[in-house]
Amino acid sequence: MSRTATLLDGKAVAAKVRGEVKTRAAAFTTKHGRAPGLAVVQVGSDPASSVYVRNKRKACDETGIRSFAHDLPSTVGRAELLGLVAKLNADDAVDGILMQLPLPAGLDANEIMDAIDPRKDVDGFHPHNTGLLAQKRPRLRPCTPYGVIRLAAEYGMKLRGLRATVVGASNIVGRPMALELLLAGCTVTVCHTGTRDLAAEVERAELVVAAVGRPGMVRGEWIRPGAAVFDVGINRSDSGKLVGDVDFEAALPRAGAITPVPGGIGPMTIAMLLSNTLDAAEARA
Ligand code: NAD
Repeated sequence: MSRTATLLDGKAVAAKVRGEVKTRAAAFTTKHGRAPGLAVVQVGSDPASSVYVRNKRKACDETGIRSFAHDLPSTVGRAELLGLVAKLNADDAVDGILMQLPLPAGLDANEIMDAIDPRKDVDGFHPHNTGLLAQKRPRLRPCTPYGVIRLAAEYGMKLRGLRATVVGASNIVGRPMALELLLAGCTVTVCHTGTRDLAAEVERAELVVAAVGRPGMVRGEWIRPGAAVFDVGINRSDSGKLVGDVDFEAALPRAGAITPVPGGIGPMTIAMLLSNTLDAAEARA
């Protein structure tokens, strides 16, 4: 087969989004006499989380958002963590609160996340924001699904009417992704561990989002010719390389467009977090 897919350059589009955020952050700072603020809370020292947290803080510095670092030991108690959330909720210099997941075992992540003021929930994980998205009136939208939508828009994709299949149904990616695609006018199928025939669900999709966390889970031969493929998965292969959930090499000659890993949805996620922080800051001000 001689066709090859358009590579959806998440890195380039993320740079564009960050540029917009930088301009908005400068205008906000001039108008309100303070920079927009993002509190980034990390509990424990999970190495992958530390990398994400470092990248998020660096991205804030580069765009004129003030980041407040809260690094707590894994032994922190429920009351102390809830106390910090309450303090950040009340702090006027803080527009967004990011609680890096996963939290150590012993802490109830739902309880902690539910305590965040929905107006400062820049991850878009609070049931209030998920509910608003489900009701077609999104406010703060989960960063990874929102990043997929923004990337598609930048490439001029018309989503209305497309048959879309989302592989994965987690609260942070798969489910809100399905709601975003529904909002965009797609006819949406959501696959999970109970799905009987994953190949068939992917084969009829004109748009596929893979968010499982298993390398090569979505096979190239399942991709409908010309389909748009968004690979959210981030996995470390045996050789230490970062790979997605889609068998990229096999999908490339069939897809119409595809995101690489790395350089696809990963950078978009951080860019949308910054964009959400500006949305939250402007709405509060
Ligand atoms: P998760 O483990 O919470 O959810 C995985 C989902 O996949 C579940 O809903 C499960 O039902 C489904 N699943 C598992 N096996 C399946 C199968 N055989 N068929 C169909 N569905 C199946 O994971 P998550 O937090 O949603 O993350 C998914 C992946 O996305 C991971 O690789 C993660 O690292 C990555 N991720 C990337 C970004 C980014 O910025 N690019 C952000 C968040 C997560």
